[in-house]
This record gives sequence, C-alpha cells and structure tokens, in this order.
Amino acid sequence: MAWVYEFSEGNKDQKDLLGGKGANLAEMTTLGLPVPPGFTISTETCRAYLALKESGEGGEPEGLAEEVTDHLGRLEAAMDKRLGDADDPLLVSVRSGAKFSMPGMMETVLNVGLNDTSVGGLAARSEDERFAQDSYRRLLQMFGGTVLHVDSELFSDALDEAKKAKGTESDLDLDADDLRGLVETFKQIIKSETGRDFPQDPREQMDLAIRAVFDSWNTDRARLYRRQERIPEDLGTAVNVQAMVFGNFGMDSGSGVAFTRDPASGAQGEYGDYLQNAQGEDVVAGIRNTVSLADMAEIDRRSHDDLMTIMSRLERHYRDMCDIEFTVERGKLWMLQTRVGKRTPEAAFRIAVHMVDEGLIQMDEAVLRVTGDQLAQLMFPRFDEKAERTLLAKGMNASPGAAVGKAVFDSDTAVEWAERGEDVILVRKETNPDDLRGMVAARGILTSRGGKTSHAAVVARGMGRTCVCGAESLDVDTKAKQFRVRDGETIAEGDVISIDGTTGEVFQGAVPVADSVVVRHFEGEKLDDDLAHAVARIMAHADGARRLRVRTNADTPEDAARARRFGAQGIGLCRTEHMFLGERRELVEKLIVAEDESGVEAALAELLPLQRQDFTEILEAMDGLPVTIRLLDPPLHEFLPDLTELSVEVALAEERGQVDERAASLLTHVRRLHEQNPMLGLRGVRLGIQIPGLFTMQARAIAEAAADRMEAHGTPLPEIMVPLVASVRELEIVRHVLEEQVAEVEEQRGVKLDIAIGTMIELPRAAFLADRIAKEADFFSFGTNDLTQMGWGFSRDDVESSFFSRYFEHGIFDVSPFESLDQLGVGGMVEMGTKKGRKTKPELKVGVCGEHGGDPRSVHFFDDIGLNYVSCSPFRVPVARLEAGRSVLDKR
Ligand code: PEP
Ligand code: MG
Repeated sequence: MAWVYEFSEGNKDQKDLLGGKGANLAEMTTLGLPVPPGFTISTETCRAYLALKESGEGGEPEGLAEEVTDHLGRLEAAMDKRLGDADDPLLVSVRSGAKFSMPGMMETVLNVGLNDTSVGGLAARSEDERFAQDSYRRLLQMFGGTVLHVDSELFSDALDEAKKAKGTESDLDLDADDLRGLVETFKQIIKSETGRDFPQDPREQMDLAIRAVFDSWNTDRARLYRRQERIPEDLGTAVNVQAMVFGNFGMDSGSGVAFTRDPASGAQGEYGDYLQNAQGEDVVAGIRNTVSLADMAEIDRRSHDDLMTIMSRLERHYRDMCDIEFTVERGKLWMLQTRVGKRTPEAAFRIAVHMVDEGLIQMDEAVLRVTGDQLAQLMFPRFDEKAERTLLAKGMNASPGAAVGKAVFDSDTAVEWAERGEDVILVRKETNPDDLRGMVAARGILTSRGGKTSHAAVVARGMGRTCVCGAESLDVDTKAKQFRVRDGETIAEGDVISIDGTTGEVFQGAVPVADSVVVRHFEGEKLDDDLAHAVARIMAHADGARRLRVRTNADTPEDAARARRFGAQGIGLCRTEHMFLGERRELVEKLIVAEDESGVEAALAELLPLQRQDFTEILEAMDGLPVTIRLLDPPLHEFLPDLTELSVEVALAEERGQVDERAASLLTHVRRLHEQNPMLGLRGVRLGIQIPGLFTMQARAIAEAAADRMEAHGTPLPEIMVPLVASVRELEIVRHVLEEQVAEVEEQRGVKLDIAIGTMIELPRAAFLADRIAKEADFFSFGTNDLTQMGWGFSRDDVESSFFSRYFEHGIFDVSPFESLDQLGVGGMVEMGTKKGRKTKPELKVGVCGEHGGDPRSVHFFDDIGLNYVSCSPFRVPVARLEAGRSVLDKR
C-alpha cells in the first residue's frame, strides 16, 4: 500500500483513505474540472506517523520521503516548474483534510517554496514585486504560527502596525516596500521566538508543514471538537499538497466560498462570498468585506459564469447541495475544494424534497437525508437569534423550546398567575409530583438540580414544555422566592426570564420567540408553507416504509388527543400517578392512614369514580386505538408531605402547646413509609401486593370505563400493565385479582371486555426470566428508564448532574445512557428479554415505553431487534415515526 496518491488516482468514496478534501479533489480532477494538480498523503500515513511518535521512536514512516519525492517530481513536471526555484518557483499549499470535516481545527500552510531567493524569481515572473512580497509574508506568518508555534498575534500585531504607520486600515494599501519590511520583521519574530532562522530550504519547509498537519490532529482543540462531534479519535488526517494558484495576484484575482443552494433555508439560487485580490484565509478571517456572487458577476463575468456552470455540474454529480472553495487567478477560475454542504434542519427538509422534484433523487433517499433530530429542532419554538440577550446561567437542555415568563417559585403561584393570564416560568431546586399543576400552568421549567431524566425533565418532555434542569450556578431559594446567580445577580418572583431548552441557556428579561410552522402543520392547520409541505411529504413516505408502530406516553385526554394528531397509534404508557395528586391527595392520605380494612375500602370507594372518569376520557380521546394503562407505580410517600418539613411543623406546634392531631398522626405514617432507597422500595407491583385494594380499584375503574365507552358506542381498547415485576409469581398473584375484577364488571354490565394484561420489563431479573414471566403476560413493555437505572445501578435523579461529565471525558460513554439507549448492555437485556418472552409466546407483543422510545438511535435499535412498537412523549411521536421509516429504508 502506498502512502501517497495522485489526485487523478482517487475518488469521492475514498474518504477513509484520502480524507474528505483529498477524496473530493480527486473526484473533481477526474471530472475534468479546473483543479490545480497535486497529491494526497493518506490518513494511514498520519496514523503510522502518530504511532511512531507515541512509541517514542519518532520520525517518518518508512518509504514516505521517497514517495513524496516521486510525487513532487511529477507535480513539478506537470507544472513545468521546480519547488522553490530561484527563477520560476513552484509554490505549493499544504492542507489538512480528515474524513469528517473539522472546520478550522487543523492546519494549513500556503505559499510553501518561497525563500529569500525565490521571492525574487516570483516577482520577476509575475512582474509584480508587491504580489511576491505579499505571498512571502503570508508564508512566514502561517508557517511561523502553525509549524513553529510562534504566537500568531505577534504577526498580526506587526501587520497592524505596518498599516498604522502607513495611515491605512486596508492591507491592500501596503506597497512592495512596506511588505518587504514586514517580511524582515516576520523573520526576526521567528528568529527571536524560536531561536532559529526561518528554513530557506523549500523541501524542508514542505516536510515540516506536512508534519505540522499530522501533529495538529492531536491538539487540544481538535480533540475537544472530536469529542463534541463524536468523531472517532483514531482516524487521523490526510495532507493535501497542491500547486498554488493565487487569488492575491491583483484586482483581477480573488478567492471565495460558495454554496449550490442556500444552506440556511434550502432555497435554490447562488449563495456565496467573494473577495478580490485575496487568498482563501482572508475570506474566512473577514479582514475586508466580501461581496456576493451576484456582485462578483459584475466584477468578473466570465469567472462567475464558469463557477455557476461548475456548481450546477457538481450538484448533479453529487446529487446534493455542495459547498465550494475557489480562487480566481488573473481571470481564470480554479476549484480548491468541494464537499456535500452542511445545512440547517430547515434547509435539509426543503433540499431533500426539491431534489426529488428535480429528479435528482428518489423519495427513499430524501427520507434518509433528514433526521429525527432535525425534525425535533424544527418543532420547537425558538428564540430569535438576532435578538440581544443577557446570559444568566447554563444548565442541561432537558426539554427543548424557548419559553419566556415571570419567575415563580411554587406551584400555587404558577397556577394563580397563569389563571390571570400571565406567562410564568416555574423555578425550583428540583420538582416532584406535587409540582405538576405548576408545571402544567408554566411556560417553562427551570431547576438547579437533576439530570435529563429527573422528574422535571421527564414530565416537561412529556408535556412538550420547555425545561432547563440542573443549572447548578443558580442558588434557588424558594422560601425567599428568588434565585441568585453565581456572580451576584438576583432574580426575584415576578422578574422576567427566558429559558432555552434546546441549548440549556437561561437569559435575563424577555428574548423574542418565533412559532414553529411544523407543529402548526402537525396540529392540522392548513398552511401554505413550503417547509410544512416538505415535512408532510417526507413523513408520508416514512410512514409508508416503517414496520415499527409508534404509540405515545400520555396520561391526560389533551395529551392523548394531541399525540393522536401527531400520528400516535395508541397509548403505550398511561402513567396513573398524577391522577392521585391535587384535590385527590386527601383521599390518598385517607387511604394511607386508614386504621382498618373498612377505612381503606372507604377511601378506595371514593377514588373509584374519579379514576373511572379519568380512563373514560382517555379512552375516548384514543377511541379505536390501544391504550396501555399502567397501575400505580411510585412509592406512596410521594403523595405525602416531606418528612423533615412535617417533623418541624409538628415540633413547632408542640412547642407552642398546640397539638395538631392530624399532622401528628400523619407524621407517624410518613415515618412508617420513609425509605432509604425509595426507588428500590415499596413501589410498582409491590404496592399491589401490599395493598391489594389499590390495584383492584384501578382495574375495576378501567373495566367500568371500557363498559361505559361501549355503551356510548365507542371502541375502547384498554390494556392493563403491571409495573416493576421481577418474578412471575408477583404477576400471577396480581393478574388473578385483576381478572376477577374484569370478569365481575363483564357480568354486571353484560358486556365482553377484551382487556389484555401485561407487564413492564424494567428490572434486570425480569429480563433474565422473561420466558417465565411471559407465561402470565399478554404483552411486554420495556421500561428502559428503570432498566437503565437498575442495570447500571445509576440513580436516574442524581447521576447525570453529578459525575457524568467525567464519564464523557473518559469516553466511558459518549451520550447519557438515559438519553440514548446503552445498546450493548441495557439493549442486550431488551433483546434477550424479547427473545425469551417470544420463546414462550411466539406472538408476544413487545414494546418499549422508556424515554428511549423517542430517541433516534434507540428507535433504529428497537426496529432491528424486532419490537412491535415504541412509545414516547407526544412531541417525539413524529420523530419516532420518521426514524422508524428511516430504519427500514436504511436497510434496503
Ligand atoms: C421506565 O422505567 O422506563 C418507565 C417507562 O417507567 P417510569 O419512567 O415511570 O419509571
Ligand atoms: Mg419505570
């Protein structure tokens, strides 16, 4: 295998070997486009070089120098010039180019081959002394900064000083003498900073530049970028050595960047910037104002038209939007780079659909070119990016969107203020089920503690409410109704703040917000909007392709109805716990403090009609579609006052000599129910076994609601789901009493109710024994939140904000396993549980209802292992539909 390849040898599909830039330069060369000749040193060479360095041996891979000599010779022959020749020098650029673009992260050196002698040759040949000196000072500046690691500010300061001495702001006003002076200054800077002279030997310059590019793979900023972008560490970069063309050759020369379509909106047309008499780096650095491509047509019609022709050719060839770097040298256009261009989510949808209409791609491919993440971004209202803003803090981006409102610090105030028409943001240290009313009333939720699966985050996502959680620099004082920012700013109740759930940012005051047309479209609004049409077509095609069904996690009729409009095919998880809060809390208290059987029965009898009403409304909203209702899951103390607060209250009352009987008795029960590890305590199916009446009441309410709906000529399809099962015996016991209830209602009402009874699989033991559990289950639903918590032993309320950042740094995982399924470990349990369950019951229906049901990567996994459905919060339903379709198309 060779280390070095001619541009004419490769093609665009060889990014692994040649890097993105090299592969595309090769492709353009083969297409016959005007690309200055050159060669690519492969990524493999970089890996070999870095391995030698790591091993302490250092030096270059064996044979590399000879190959470079060989290819340089060919380049010199093609250009009929020699590198750094005194009379007519060949100059080259040395540029990085990894498989995945890492803009600005790695090094580039231009004009390699100039020295004190060849600068004279260049001046003579070009008949332009100024140009030659300008090129030389650029080499010294770039080489000094990137190869010799001289502080680049020293060069730019000297350049500024030269301009100041000349009384000008523009580098174009510096003449040949000024630039010659600058060359001397730059050489001195290099000498005094590095203790050695700038290398005059052209080949040495080139070899050092090549090494510098290899080394730049491992700079801190490059590593950081890779971690953020999830680019593997071990790819290495290629190096492209290419004959220089000069955009700084006078006013009939220039450099520019262009896109074949608008990368922001996706609109057709020409988009780009051009800068006369400049080299590429000037365009990006913004040293002078660029002009548009339309204006470039006025300056140099021929180059502009050539560029347009090439751009449309590239687009047809790549069948995608391309971005391009080009240079014009004395009226001749040269192509320096192209690649499939990055784009906004909005542009991605528009471009995909436009390209179908233009006959460039098929619908299958259009669907594969957009992602669920992009769709999700399009669904959230956003802050106007141009608006001014004052950042107060940054937390976790728990539930996307943009929310503005007055800060309030408790649920009651949130509800009260919202009722009188005010927008509020509920600010808490952390939320608990008690805060639900306030969360519903608020525009957004901000907490200073808790991770992405904390209560606040999960509930907010479920409701499509914007949420920033774990903003640790905020000191929230709910008693004083204020929070303090670390640097001292205090926000009091009623002060307006803005929170961005997409970025996790918290701003002072009101930042203007724009509505999402995509949500309005999903809501059924008829819109004459290009983007809404594009999304509709993509979604229709994805739906046509997908195998996996998509249900929703919803526990109110409103959420159920919305999810249905968003395309949900039923409810996969109706959590019943919130139905026991608010005014019903008293009844739960009654149930818990009941002294005897009859007290329990009385409390349950009061809860029954309320539950029936809840279920009737949800079954109505989802008429004709399955509704999986999960029996009560959380530990009971969540419905009771906090132990410490209540203890203090009782103690204070006693001190005052006032004995509050009710509080004192409640305290006994709160103490009794207190647990060190509530997540591992009395919850889920254990509640059903400990307090049998509870599940019986719920089952009865479900059966009666179904009977009511049938009498109203509806088509109710309820399913009962038992949480936190670990043993088949638990399910057997509970199932028996549930069936009794259903049978009784059937008999009393004279109807046939077909209510499936299934279980959540959310404990490792359950996954392991799924073949046994399947005997008692009509269906499985994997609770991957708890399965992750119990599988890793990670408290889902704590760990994300405590030590996960360290875990990311060490590469233990690159994304929180609560956010995207740990496919290997937790996913392995899901796969095993599914297989074992189906061994017992081949037709067993299996779904997933943890947060992962709406995560793109996880959806593909669930499709791959053959689940029947995923269930996710209403706002993730379109995302899951799209990804389920993409998963199928991806495999075609
Ligand atoms: C789960 O554990 O994945 C689940 C869906 O249940 P919950 O989040 O309510 O514990
Ligand atoms: Mg659970």
